[in-house]
Amino acid sequence: MRLLYLLGHPVAHSLSPAMQNAALRALGLDYEYRLLPVPPEGLVEKVAGLRDGDVAGFNVTIPHKVVIIPLLDELDETASTVGAVNTVVNRDGRLKGYNTDCLASTRALREAYGDLAGCRVAILGAGGAARAVASGLAPHAEWIKIIARDEEKAKALARQVRGQTDAEIRGGGLGEAPRMIRSADILVNATPVGMSPNRDRSPVEAGALHPGLLVFDLVYNPERTRLLADAEAAGARTLGGLAMLVYQGAEAFRLWTGREAPESLMMRAARDALGGAAA
Ligand code: NAP
Repeated sequence: MRLLYLLGHPVAHSLSPAMQNAALRALGLDYEYRLLPVPPEGLVEKVAGLRDGDVAGFNVTIPHKVVIIPLLDELDETASTVGAVNTVVNRDGRLKGYNTDCLASTRALREAYGDLAGCRVAILGAGGAARAVASGLAPHAEWIKIIARDEEKAKALARQVRGQTDAEIRGGGLGEAPRMIRSADILVNATPVGMSPNRDRSPVEAGALHPGLLVFDLVYNPERTRLLADAEAAGARTLGGLAMLVYQGAEAFRLWTGREAPESLMMRAARDALGGAAA
């Protein structure tokens, strides 16, 4: 049997084992996906052990997506551009890092929004997910505004993404959110605000939302967040985080196994696990 892991801290509430193991079983592949909780101080030692032949690869999540990079042998182009890794493939003891969040967010958005050329985007949050979404949209957008409670972090991320594109990329504080959202086509929530159990919270005032927006909430637990409910009430289109979760997992599955991923089945498994987690 070959092993796959999710490396992070904490990992207990992840939907990835349910989603990946359902896909592996459906294709009759002799692999198993397991949780591997690793605190920051244990990362170097754990990664060394994941070069063994029985390990096919692993996912990486909070807080290791950036700090793992120097521990890997190689990065693919997207991971290198984004500066963060969420998927690693082990080939004969060599570890190559990928960023499937970036491709997955752009794919989910394109399906919901249509042609992304010239889109104007406001992103809430300046962490790893914001970085992946911004890098994926940078080649298409007219402008991207990154809005965070720590204005300096938003500006630092904007400077980093600016190097990848001719589009206008700016950072600002939360106070600037209503003005930045007013002229945007797409609003992305890349903060954990609204995630269960804090389901009644939203990262922005409902009054800032308008019918011209597509609102993409990366939070997937609950599936319909307060932000998405407010967006619907304002006449905006909405996209929840589950599609991106499944697409990043499906791309990782292809990289590890060389097989196409059964995406509908992965979506069902993730939804079932979410129902169980929410109960
Ligand atoms: P992260 O690196 O920790 O970044 C989180 C960002 O949100 C930071 O800018 C942080 O600000 C900000 N933030 C945290 N709490 C906040 C609050 N109460 N008010 C305002 N801003 C706040 O996390 P991440 O990896 O980017 O993940 C962000 C969210 O996206 C999580 O909910 C995660 O589950 C979700 N996600 C979903 C998918 C998917 O496939 N759907 C994939 C990746 C991530 P500070 O820096 O000031 O703390």
